[in-house]
Amino acid sequence: MEQISVFDMLKIGVGPSSSHTLGPWRASQKWIQELKDNDQFYKVKSVAIELYGSLSLTGMGHATDKAIILGLSGADPETIPVDSIDGIIQKATDSCEIQFGGERNIQFNVVEHLLFKKSFLEFHSNGLMFRALLDDGTHLSETYYSIGGGFVVKEGQEQEESKIHEHGKLPFPIETGVDLANHCSREGKSISQIVMQNELIWRSEDEVKSEIDRVWKTMFECMYIGCHTEGILPGGLEVERRAYGLNKRLMNGLEYADMNSWFESIRKLNNPFHKVIKWVSCYALSINEVNASLGRVVTAPTNGSAGVIPAVLMYYLCFVNKFAGQKEIERFLLTAGEIGSIIKKGATISAAMGGCQAEIGVSSAMAAGALTDLLGGSPDHVLMAAEIAMEHHLGLTCDPIGGLVQIPCIERNSMGAVKAINAAEMAMERNPKKAKINLDMVVETMWQTAQDMNSKYKETSEGGLAVSVNISAC
Ligand code: SF4
Repeated sequence: MEQISVFDMLKIGVGPSSSHTLGPWRASQKWIQELKDNDQFYKVKSVAIELYGSLSLTGMGHATDKAIILGLSGADPETIPVDSIDGIIQKATDSCEIQFGGERNIQFNVVEHLLFKKSFLEFHSNGLMFRALLDDGTHLSETYYSIGGGFVVKEGQEQEESKIHEHGKLPFPIETGVDLANHCSREGKSISQIVMQNELIWRSEDEVKSEIDRVWKTMFECMYIGCHTEGILPGGLEVERRAYGLNKRLMNGLEYADMNSWFESIRKLNNPFHKVIKWVSCYALSINEVNASLGRVVTAPTNGSAGVIPAVLMYYLCFVNKFAGQKEIERFLLTAGEIGSIIKKGATISAAMGGCQAEIGVSSAMAAGALTDLLGGSPDHVLMAAEIAMEHHLGLTCDPIGGLVQIPCIERNSMGAVKAINAAEMAMERNPKKAKINLDMVVETMWQTAQDMNSKYKETSEGGLAVSVNISAC
């Protein structure tokens, strides 16, 4: 059984895409580590990388080329100062060299050594092949796949991915929603309590709590940055940042000095429903604007859908329970992470495999379930809310204009967040025993829909809005 930690679903990284930025970045790091482990790293004279399938078709807009340069240069997506990114890329482009693994300069001509192939590799549509020329004239090559949400597997080890995080036996193995519900009812525990027990095979309870704190602080800071940055997003579509103006109008002249006083000021507002909805959108837009500009975000469960979960949690903290704090944040993120894991195991969180239902649909389901828990719902209510949110994203296609994670992606996060809130409220009003559809059924349906979906709607920018909208008119 695949073992997935909550922190595999909620990863700190850099935008704009988990599968096209974070995954290739991690693959580059893994390849370098492998060269080092095999005593080949210092023999490498030059490298070339071939991108296949969706990585090739939308890689340029999703910054795959930049991610690979950064990964090969020894930078880490979790810790790199985001304001250093442009300089590293520019230097590599101008000098036709990269500082390989952060240690030594080797030849690397971005145009000649980073190749966008139109063909697809068999295992997954996000394939990338690393080639190296060694100083004795011999060549090496390795293929990796970025399978969504920043997860990466090496060719030949596709089935071993599930073992990567096996550090012991999970006290509560979970493959499906039914497994999770059964553990909760047998143990008399909430979902977050069950998930916390499982997390303890990887780290101590204090470490889990401090990691959750780090994840939330990153989300929160990302929202604040997004709400306080105006201008046009990079990439050429001339998309205007909207969170800045929205935040300003909603704050209506209220003064604040920093992130915390901004948050406390919002909590003091007594907003009517239509303004609360605008706030939810503002939070989601802010995160995804930061994501689109290669800022620091938390993959939740992907970068393209990174705004849904923080927007819904912020909604709870600002408008539902103004006294909530760390305890509620922990419950929310533990619950959300487990729902995402269940959907990943039963279907996919890769838009290249399942379209946008696998990104926004999954993030909305995660947020809906987690919010329901905080609203006082039982585990069955939580799973029902996740089911409702997922059900109403079935068939959603991925068709980013210009291959950029901007239109429809940014706005789609606010739609996913609002749907999550509605799903939670609907679940709270129902008896889960009377539901005709459970989460596992909708996950299975999502997977079937993913397989039936035409490939042009799977992160290729060859269908939908990506072709029906005139880019120059955007
Ligand atoms: S359309 Fe959806 S799945 Fe596709 S890139 Fe945008 S957010 Fe991701």
